[in-house]
Amino acid sequence: AGDLSKRFASDLRVRDGEKKKVAIVGGGLSGLACAKYLAEAGHEPIVLEARDVLGGKVSAWKDKDGDWIETGLHIFFGAYPNMMNLFAELDIEDRLQWKVHKMIFAMQELPGEFTSFDFIKGIPAPLNFGLAILLNQKMLTLPEKLQTAPPLLPMLIEGQDFIDKQDELSVQQFMRKYGMPERINEEVFISMAKALDFIDPDKLSMTVVLTAMNRFLNETDGLQMAFLDGNQPDRLCAPMVESITKNGGSVMTKQRLKEFVLNEDGSVKHLAMANGDIVEADEYISAMPVDVMKRMMPKKWGEIPHFAQLKELEGIPVINIHLWFDRKLKNVDHLCFSRSPLLSVYADMSTTCKEYYDEEKSMLELVFAPCSPIAGGKTNWIAKSNQEIVDATMLELERLFPLEIGPKSPDGVGARLLKHAVVKTPRSVYAAIPGRNKFRPSQETPIKNFTLAGDYTSQKFLGSMEGAVLAGKLAAEVVASRAKGKATQGLKPVQQSIINAIGPVSEP
Ligand code: FAD
Repeated sequence: AGDLSKRFASDLRVRDGEKKKVAIVGGGLSGLACAKYLAEAGHEPIVLEARDVLGGKVSAWKDKDGDWIETGLHIFFGAYPNMMNLFAELDIEDRLQWKVHKMIFAMQELPGEFTSFDFIKGIPAPLNFGLAILLNQKMLTLPEKLQTAPPLLPMLIEGQDFIDKQDELSVQQFMRKYGMPERINEEVFISMAKALDFIDPDKLSMTVVLTAMNRFLNETDGLQMAFLDGNQPDRLCAPMVESITKNGGSVMTKQRLKEFVLNEDGSVKHLAMANGDIVEADEYISAMPVDVMKRMMPKKWGEIPHFAQLKELEGIPVINIHLWFDRKLKNVDHLCFSRSPLLSVYADMSTTCKEYYDEEKSMLELVFAPCSPIAGGKTNWIAKSNQEIVDATMLELERLFPLEIGPKSPDGVGARLLKHAVVKTPRSVYAAIPGRNKFRPSQETPIKNFTLAGDYTSQKFLGSMEGAVLAGKLAAEVVASRAKGKATQGLKPVQQSIINAIGPVSEP
C-alpha cells in the first residue's frame, strides 16, 4: 500500500506537458482517494459529487437537534493497509479509536450476556486467532472446533488460489461439501456473512469469508477494530479534500452527472451535468456505485464486454438505524455481533465514539440485515415504513436485552426510546453472491480516456472502505501511468459467457 502511494510522488509524478485535467464523477471514498493521489502526482483532478454532502456510503448529516445521522455504522480493521496508509498520510491517525482486540457476540441462550474471542497481546498471527477460538468455551465445543479447522487449512497453504476457486460456492455449500458442523453456521457464519455483506450465508460467496479470514490469520492486528472519533464527512472526507485542493485539485458538491457524451470513436467528449453545465477534461473517471454506472452507461458501451459484465453485479439493500434512549444501557465499548435474525452488528455510539459521547443516555447504531429476499431475508424490509422497521428492531432488542428494554425489565417498561432515525440504502455494496468476483471489472477500460473506480471494481478486498480507497488508488495509477506513457496493469480478461451473450462487436 505504501509503495503505491509513494509512486505518485516519484516515478508517476508529472513533468512538463504531462499534466492532465481529470473529471472524477462521485465523491465517495473511492473518488476522493483517486483525486488525492492524482493531485499528488501533479494532475488536476476535479471531483463532481451529486449530493450536497461528500462520502457516499460514509456520508452523514445533522438532524434538527444537531445529532449526526450516518448512512452506515463503519468499522476500520487493522487489516486495511490502504486505509491505514491514508490516515498516516493525512496525519490523522489519532482519529482512529482502537478497541481492545476481540470479537464480541451476544449470547443467544443467555439474553443480556456476551461472549468473545479474545486476541492475546504479544501472540503473533495465526496463533492468536487459533488461541482466541480455542479459549472461547461458550460458542463451540472442542469437537466442533476441531472439525472446523481442516477445511480451512488449504486457505493457509494454497493461499489466494484456493480462496478464488471457492467463489462458485456459497458459505453453506462450502460447509456441506467439506463436512463442517452445521452449528458453526448459526454460531459464527450468520453473523459474519451479515457483517461482511449484509446477506445470509446461504447467499454469500465462500470467497468473501475466506478472504477476510485469510487477512485476519496473516496479520497479528488484522482483526483489531477501530471507530472513527466522529462523523466521517468532517473527520475523514474533509482532510482528503484539504489534501486534494492543496495539491491543485478541486471538489464540488451538487454536481450531478446527467450523461457521458461520446466522440465518434466511443471515447468521452464531455460530461453533461444535470444543471446544464458541460465539463471537459483529458481523462474521465466514474467513481459512482455500480448500479448508477449501469444506468448511466452510454448505449454504445453496453455492447463492449468489459462494460457488459457490470450487469452481473448488483448492490445489496441495507438499513442503518439510530436509537436514542433516555438512559445509559449496559454496554461494551466495542462493536457487538447481535446474532439476531433481523440485526447484524451494532454499537452504543454514546460510548464507542468520542464525538457522540454521552455519559447519561445511550445511542445505539444498528445495521438491519438481511433486509430483502435477495439478501436471504423473508421480508422486504427496505419497502417497509421507518416506524415498522423501528418497531421490529425494538422487539428484537427486548428479546436480546430483556432486563433493560421492554416489559420484562424490572420497572415493567425499561429504557424509553426518545427518538429514532432510519437510513435506507436500497443499493449498497455489490452483492457478493457466488460467482461474482470474476465479473468485477478492472479499473482500466477499453475506452482510451475513461477509467472506473468504486469499491465494486476488481481489487482484493470486497465492497468496503478499504476496497473503495484501493480501487480509487488503482484508477489513479491507470491515469497517471498513461500520462507518462508507462505500461498499465492491463485489462482484466472478460468471461467467455459475457462475450458469447453479446456476439461479435468491434471494440474501440
Ligand atoms: P460510494 O460511497 O457509493 O460513492 C459513490 C458516490 O457517487 C456517492 O457519493 C454518490 O452520491 C455519487 N454519485 C452517484 N451518482 C452520481 C451522479 N450521477 N453524479 C455525481 N455523483 C454521483 N465498509 C467497511 O469497510 N466497514 C464497515 O463497517 C462498513 N459498514 C457499512 C455499513 C453500511 C450500512 C453501508 C451502507 C456500508 C458499509 N461499508 C463498510 C461499505 C463502505 O461504506 C463502502 O464500501 C464504501 O464507502 C464505498 O465507497 P465508494 O466510493 O466506492 O462508493
